[in-house]
Amino acid sequence: MAQADVEVVVDMDVEGAPEAGEAVQVLRRVFGYDAFRGSQQEIIEHVIGGGDAVVLMPTGGGKSLCYQIPSLVRSGVGVVISPLIALMQDQVDALRALGVRAGFLNSTQDLEERRLVEAEFLSGELDLLYLAPERLRVEQTLNLLDRGKISLFAIDEAHCVAQWGHDFRPDYLALSMLHERWPEVPRIALTATATEATHGEISSRLRMADARHFVASFDRPNIQYRIATKSEPKRQLLELLRAEHPGDAGIVYCLSRASVEKTAQFLVDNGIEAVPYHAGLDARTRAANQARFLREDGLVVVATIAFGMGIDKPDVRFVAHLDLPKSVEGYYQETGRAGRDGQPSTAWLAYGLQDVVQQRKMIDGSEGDEAHRRRLSAHLDAMLALCETVQCRRVRLLAYFGQESTPCGNCDTCLVPPQTWDGTVPAQKLLSTVVRLQRERGQKFGAGQLIDILMGKKTAKVIQFDHDQLSVFGVGADLREAEWRGVVRQLLAQGLLAVEGDYGTLVLTDTSGEVLRGAREVPMRREPEKPARAARSKASGKRAPVDLPEEALPVFEALRGWRGRTAKEQGVPAYVIFHDATLREIATARPATVAALGAVNGVGENKLAKYGEQILDVLAGGDGGDGAEAPAGPAAAPAGRGTAPEPEPADEEALPEPPDDIDW
Ligand code: ADP
Ligand code: ZN
Repeated sequence: MAQADVEVVVDMDVEGAPEAGEAVQVLRRVFGYDAFRGSQQEIIEHVIGGGDAVVLMPTGGGKSLCYQIPSLVRSGVGVVISPLIALMQDQVDALRALGVRAGFLNSTQDLEERRLVEAEFLSGELDLLYLAPERLRVEQTLNLLDRGKISLFAIDEAHCVAQWGHDFRPDYLALSMLHERWPEVPRIALTATATEATHGEISSRLRMADARHFVASFDRPNIQYRIATKSEPKRQLLELLRAEHPGDAGIVYCLSRASVEKTAQFLVDNGIEAVPYHAGLDARTRAANQARFLREDGLVVVATIAFGMGIDKPDVRFVAHLDLPKSVEGYYQETGRAGRDGQPSTAWLAYGLQDVVQQRKMIDGSEGDEAHRRRLSAHLDAMLALCETVQCRRVRLLAYFGQESTPCGNCDTCLVPPQTWDGTVPAQKLLSTVVRLQRERGQKFGAGQLIDILMGKKTAKVIQFDHDQLSVFGVGADLREAEWRGVVRQLLAQGLLAVEGDYGTLVLTDTSGEVLRGAREVPMRREPEKPARAARSKASGKRAPVDLPEEALPVFEALRGWRGRTAKEQGVPAYVIFHDATLREIATARPATVAALGAVNGVGENKLAKYGEQILDVLAGGDGGDGAEAPAGPAAAPAGRGTAPEPEPADEEALPEPPDDIDW
């Protein structure tokens, strides 16, 4: 896309905008927040003024307010197009809790429910209407919209229109008609996915080239990015959870449904509350597990990528990947679900040789034309480059989104800088073993056998094939097995070696010859002996919210207990009542009057009226005054207890078929 379209906006006060005051008033009165963040104000004023906007902002950046406030200020109903059908109810509940008149129309409703919402829309009793994109293909919906007054169209998760991206939804392509049918209604498209390619597709497919483009910084400074070498992934995960995230809510991503099930069971067996989520589960179980995750404190969801878009639970403390994501975009989107509340959070990925082999095979075997495979390959290469970099992970990530930055001090490579070493000679040894096997024996083998030969191991398979007779047998005894795996992995990542066929055999590429001839050096990353750990210290074993003075802790816990009971009574997620950050501020400030409570960030007019007295009662040592029963919070087994982890074979050894139960 043309560079001129893009505008990077920093905080700026726009003078003279007539409704400026109104937007801030709504922010304070309805949402209870003091001030706009980043470029929110400018976006909001632009849309209130009737302008079109394309908004690129990272997850947790505060996109929702950018269309919610203009919907409240402009006359008519704000129509929000969102693919997140499963979450519409929660989104609407959250708005209603603030006193905003919101409704939705999607396929989960029966006729009667739909009629009710339609009537509210027509009589102007709604501020916001959420619509699934497929509803716009129904003539009836279009007629309905024609008969009401629309204040704006918000196109949420706008990257779904991009075929280059990873969440493509064909229904989104039809959204270009919004402008043709309602040319006078302003449109705001929003996404947290922002490579140039995706951004370009959003502009052109939604016909928004003339819109103003707002590109926020994509940095998520509170997320600590770490990529570890995979040895025993489940056990590594368990160590991470026990050491750094006991009792925390988090998401663990796995590639296949089978590994989702196994991993969830493994965590449960080891005393961690966890539930599985993948497209193979029936809809009821899926919905129930998702609802538990949103509603309970401290549940872990083990999931395929089918889980997560639009999950706006603010207090997800970690996102772990046990398998390599297929693209940097996907990785950033998934890890971005951690720490929306701005509190310290961890993004941890375990990555190994088998991931590379498996993904290359999946690409080779994928349906679609050559161009499609090339695209998948380019995505994978970028992901591998991120894994193998010796630079700051964040600098690499932001560079992928076209943004420059300096080393962050909060990623594994910044915390424990990896060394580089000259891997040219080992690379030559490995590549020449491939050549010899092929030339002298007409054979191809996978990584395991090649490494055994190089290390001079007389395994049954080595003897069976007489591989101890090769001249290269034992020439690599100077490196450990893990180091050889690193060599293979990095050669694959650099395209100097390739995987072929069903058995994951290794073959040369066009560029291997340069290394064999000595015409090309191969710098490699040496894994740090001690992987990076969080720089922050957490109270051992105890669930301790960060940044809370000792004396405020019991108050915070009492408020959480009250919130849990209230949320349960109302059947909404706890954060719909109040966010952790708001409870923390209340616990620290201990306001004595309703007015003082109203000054706390996140306490708007509606919630103050509804809960003000109850909170003051909790602060005075009561239970919130509603006579509710004792807290029925989830009885999370304290981490660190439980049985010892089951030993499991190192997953690296075997190179099985790519699983056929992957959620794309
Ligand atoms: P996004 O959709 O960009 O991922 P959200 O709109 O869900 O982000 O906002 C993330 C969190 O930040 C929410 O909990 C929201 O209430 C909060 N938030 C947004 N804007 C502000 C603001 N100006 N002041 C305080 N909190 C805000
Ligand atoms: Zn860094």
